[in-house]
Amino acid sequence: MAVKVPFLKDLEFEYGVSEQLSPLIRRVIANNPSAFTFHGSGTYIIGKGEVAVIDPGPLDDEHIAALTRALKGEMVTHILITHTHMDHSPAAEPLKQLTGAKTYGFGPHGSGKPDLQLEEGGDMDFVPDVTIMDGDVIVGNGWTVEAIHTPGHLSNHMCFGLLEEKTLFTGDHVMGWSTTVVSPPDGDMSPF
Ligand SMILES: [Zn+2]
Repeated sequence: MAVKVPFLKDLEFEYGVSEQLSPLIRRVIANNPSAFTFHGSGTYIIGKGEVAVIDPGPLDDEHIAALTRALKGEMVTHILITHTHMDHSPAAEPLKQLTGAKTYGFGPHGSGKPDLQLEEGGDMDFVPDVTIMDGDVIVGNGWTVEAIHTPGHLSNHMCFGLLEEKTLFTGDHVMGWSTTVVSPPDGDMSPF
């Protein structure tokens, strides 16, 4: 029986503008619309004063400038990466250079399947400063994030739970506007 999935496709936003979504969460959307990103990749800023950035996004000068504007007056203490696709992790490096914050992630591209010969197309350059595992808890000033390893879309995919607001950042593991892409060999339904 066919089931109609009620995707959420209505979204009002402005590229490059930081929007407050909840007391602890702000979002900046990159101007990289595509079949894989919908309107564009979302970068999230968690906390106030001392903040974490989840998924800095693509290597795009305008997006990095928008993040720099959004982070004015803030100290970035953590950069968290859900997974190593080109629309999520590459801007971690320039943001790290700008802020001195450490990057946190499960591991480099393909690290959830170390015996596999990887296809091209991921962010092969990203190596987290701090390797995190399923169940690890990252504590910042005024926020607490639990890491949940969710292989499937990519073997190194992490979701991040913001405990104070009972909110889960699902990266590309779950998307509101579409089903996710599972592209083999690193994308794999069997770990689901
Ligand atoms: Zn992805």
